[in-house]
Amino acid sequence: MSDLKYKRIVLKLSGEALAGDEGFGINPPVIKKIAQEIKNVYELGIQIAIVVGGGNMWRGVAGSKMGMERTQADYIGMLATVMNGLALQENLESLGVPTRVQTSIEMRQIAEPYIRRKAVRHLEKNRVVIFSGGTGNPFFSTDTTAALRAAEVHADAILMAKNGVDGIYSADPNQDPDAVKFDELTQMDIINKNLKVMDTTASSLSMDNDIPLVVFNLNESGNIEKVVKGEKIGTTVKG
Ligand code: UDP
Repeated sequence: MSDLKYKRIVLKLSGEALAGDEGFGINPPVIKKIAQEIKNVYELGIQIAIVVGGGNMWRGVAGSKMGMERTQADYIGMLATVMNGLALQENLESLGVPTRVQTSIEMRQIAEPYIRRKAVRHLEKNRVVIFSGGTGNPFFSTDTTAALRAAEVHADAILMAKNGVDGIYSADPNQDPDAVKFDELTQMDIINKNLKVMDTTASSLSMDNDIPLVVFNLNESGNIEKVVKGEKIGTTVKG
């Protein structure tokens, strides 16, 4: 355990991470590979909580742009995160990793309700806890959920897994050849420079609670492990 920098982490997986090249839905080989990566880190003795997004199926903002009532559209998004959470659970358990899904909106037939003390107990017993349903409130994001749950369970860091991008850049590296990568930042830098990392609610919550954030590329095998061992990859954002 001694070579580990972070012992209890919140891993933020966007819905898109599960979609693969199609960009929509759940891609079975892709989610299987992610589950294997998580298992490798789990076997190091890390306590892992996962906050999963839903953007591979639905985003509330997109629904409201089509004329839907925003809160209703957001509830659909929250339900999408539950589908992703269940798929992740299935894949992790098929690899022998014990898990619990907790939802912020009760659906007792399929998952536990979110109870902070229970979540912490699961982590102590080395069960991977998957937080689904976002915060349970419209107008929020799963990035904010990650910041909130990380504060609640006293995680050492939030690991934000990105799809193909290896950290935070001054501009979108796929569109701007002059974009430069930052090795270290503060949450205040993110807010001031308006960097598209997480929404400002999530940034300010992480800042207020002094929780470090590491943004890294999920598509390279072994990266979650490198982050928990303190290797300098991606971008580290101080709380
Ligand atoms: N959502 C919400 N409240 C929350 C978290 C999520 O209303 O606390 C809804 C919102 O509509 C959002 C959708 O769920 O667009 C999917 O979450 P998110 O966009 O954060 O997923 P990601 O981009 O990480 O895949």
